[in-house]
Amino acid sequence: MNYHIIPVTAFAQNCSVTWCEATRAAALVDPGGDAATIIETLQQLGLTPTQILLTHGHLDHVGAAAELSAHYQAPIVGPQKLDAFWLEALPTQSRMFGLAECAPFTPDRWLEEGDSVRVGEVKLEILHTPGHTPGHIVFFDRVGRLLISGDVIFHDGVGRTDFPQGSYQDLIASIKKKLLPLGDDITFVPGHGTISTLGHERISNPFLQ
Ligand SMILES: [Zn+2]
Repeated sequence: MNYHIIPVTAFAQNCSVTWCEATRAAALVDPGGDAATIIETLQQLGLTPTQILLTHGHLDHVGAAAELSAHYQAPIVGPQKLDAFWLEALPTQSRMFGLAECAPFTPDRWLEEGDSVRVGEVKLEILHTPGHTPGHIVFFDRVGRLLISGDVIFHDGVGRTDFPQGSYQDLIASIKKKLLPLGDDITFVPGHGTISTLGHERISNPFLQ
């Protein structure tokens, strides 16, 4: 699976487009804002997303989802439904983060642990990884050894847990029980900052020692 990162919003959120080389089928993950920039980048890459995937319900990850869903006639898929309260609270989040007003929406499909989505010939497995938010999910390409991990784990860091329904205990359990066992060789694209590998984090991440 190929990917290209498009940093969006004042929070430098890593919106990413992933695509299958063989079919050029594409999915947009976490379009947090800056719809015009995203559309222009996809045009340059020659890609048209057929679905919009969300890791969790925070505004800086979903702010342009409804607009791009309408633009590309592509369904919004994910996160897990325990994040419904975050999507319902998007107008409040807009004020909280100081970003443009965003209307609430409901995804076309919620995702659960064990579900998968297809992007061309690539299968993305869904893991439910609560902690940063209760309905946070990650997308895992087992064959391509790539994880799109949202705000669960970062290069030498972990996601914040001081938001409503956040849990540090759940977050660390999600990382140690679900992500690290995927393998040291897994490259992950986090929601913010640079890419890393699970092996680097297992050994060096100060929150996991
Ligand atoms: Zn977040």
